[in-house]
Amino acid sequence: MNAEIIAVGTEILLGDIVNTNSQFLARRLADFGISIFHQSVVGDNGPRILKEFTDAFKRCDLIITTGGLGPTTDDMTKEIAAEFFSKPLVLHQESLRKLEDIFSRRGGTLSESNRKQAYFPEGCIILPNDHGTAPGCIVSEGGKTIVVLPGPPREAYPMFENYVAPYLKTLTDSVIVSKVLRVVGLGESLMASKVQDIIEGSENPTVAPYAKQGESLLRITAKAETEADGYGLIAPVEERIRERLGNAVYGTGDESLEAVIAGMLMDRNLTISVAESCTGGMISSRLVDFPGISEVFMEGAVTYSNQAKINRLGVKRSTLDKFGAVSAETALEMAAGIARTSGTDIGLSTTGIAGPEGGSIEKPVGLVYIGLCICGKTTFIECNFPGTRDMIRLRATIAALDLLRKELL
Ligand code: ATP
Ligand code: MG
Repeated sequence: MNAEIIAVGTEILLGDIVNTNSQFLARRLADFGISIFHQSVVGDNGPRILKEFTDAFKRCDLIITTGGLGPTTDDMTKEIAAEFFSKPLVLHQESLRKLEDIFSRRGGTLSESNRKQAYFPEGCIILPNDHGTAPGCIVSEGGKTIVVLPGPPREAYPMFENYVAPYLKTLTDSVIVSKVLRVVGLGESLMASKVQDIIEGSENPTVAPYAKQGESLLRITAKAETEADGYGLIAPVEERIRERLGNAVYGTGDESLEAVIAGMLMDRNLTISVAESCTGGMISSRLVDFPGISEVFMEGAVTYSNQAKINRLGVKRSTLDKFGAVSAETALEMAAGIARTSGTDIGLSTTGIAGPEGGSIEKPVGLVYIGLCICGKTTFIECNFPGTRDMIRLRATIAALDLLRKELL
């Protein structure tokens, strides 16, 4: 089944509020195996709302609206839904009684404009509002259905969960399940190119790549009668992707890189400390994001100046003079130095040029060295990251964590 979401409200059009209702509904409809190919936003304007309904029903059978259910004259979604189906608005006694209750508890009386919230298109299903005054409704005619929900998320979400979701279950006989593979060390386009044929050939399940905060993700989505069937469709596709991408796939779902690393360190009883220059504490911060990291993470030092690298880590002045602060030699001495002085099994370090200034032809902006010392054995990588200062620092952080992960594998 196809559905469309229409968010009603001039505030959304003007950018005064963010259309989180549509995001919520799009996600939840997917859980019911309902496809969305189109969403829209329309202002509080009767003729334009009516036109949206007409246009949307050329493409789908189910419309879900949010907003415009309040007491004022610019709230008119329900009225326009009635007009669309040529149904009169009729008084719903129970809703009126509930409204009167609410207002008498607040110590007031029901105004004429509030009474309008108890009128509904004839023959519709009424959706109680457990968190506000305006009930919603489901109006149907000739195979077309409009679900009308209130605007405030704290009213719309529970109304959807408690009253619309059970209704949708009766309409569809399929579920959509998805699994996210988390990839590191390959950019989104390189990752996509490695699995291009799988992405292009995918129908059920579908495979879609996307990028998120310096990492690349692949979402595999299947439509099936049951969840178990859906995961059954996903499994062989996941296997093919893992064969292609190898250990660049570090996790699934919400699993973070730091959680994967923390697990590896804890399993092996290895402690770690970090010496950061260009990442300025971002690696330590990522590690500390994982609750329980205190078992293995001992210390993080931001050793930004040459003097700090010498004093805190014991980097040799001659190394800095000869090779520079941004060099493989310095990165290695930083990693070994932090491990030695913190008394940890592992030392991890970064030193680089995050820009925008400070680059040269030999050492351009984006050049980063990452050093790693595991039980006395040292290794480094040289990276050249594109992007802004923020992006370079983020990429360096991820690359450092990924170097550690790969060395631990
Ligand atoms: P009310 O009875 O409060 O007037 P309503 O059903 O008429 O509710 P609107 O007047 O359209 O809804 O919106 C009321 C408030 O709900 C908005 O000010 C906004 O805070 C929130 N809201 C409306 N639409 C959305 C949306 N699409 N996404 C997120 N929040 C929304
Ligand atoms: Mg309103």
